[in-house]
Amino acid sequence: MVALALPAPVPIRLGRAAPTMLRAGRYLYCGSAYGPGGLPARLGRHFRKAKSIRWHVDQLTTAGEVLGAWAVAQGDECALVRRLGFLPVPIDGFGASDCASCRSHLLRWPRRVPRSAIVAALAAGGGSDPVWLCANA
Ligand SMILES: [Zn+2]
Repeated sequence: MVALALPAPVPIRLGRAAPTMLRAGRYLYCGSAYGPGGLPARLGRHFRKAKSIRWHVDQLTTAGEVLGAWAVAQGDECALVRRLGFLPVPIDGFGASDCASCRSHLLRWPRRVPRSAIVAALAAGGGSDPVWLCANA
C-alpha cells in the first residue's frame, strides 16, 4: 500500500469523465504486486517520477511525493481497503475499475489519523506486521 503526499491540488482523470480535483494532503493507495518482478518492480515504478501514465495511480505518483509503502503479507488490496474503511474516499472508482467490491482503492489520510492507527488497521488481518519501505531506500 502506497502512501503519497500531494503538495497542491491535482486534477485526476478516470476514463472519459471530466477530471476531479484532488486536494492537497496525504493519500493511501491500495494495490497489489502480482505482476512480473513482484513487489520490488511495482514499488520501483511507483517511486519513479518518469513514466508514461498507465494506471490511475500514476497520476498521483508523478504529481505528488511518494512517502513510501507498506508491504502487507497476505493482504489483497480489497482486504486492505476494508480494514481502512474508517478513512474517507476522495474519488469513487479510483484504481478500482476491475473491482466489484470497493468504491475506490484510493483513500484519504487525514492529518488527525496517526500513523499508528494505519499500521494497526493493516495488521488487523491477523498476519505479520506490515513492513514500511521507504522511497529513498
Ligand atoms: Zn477492491
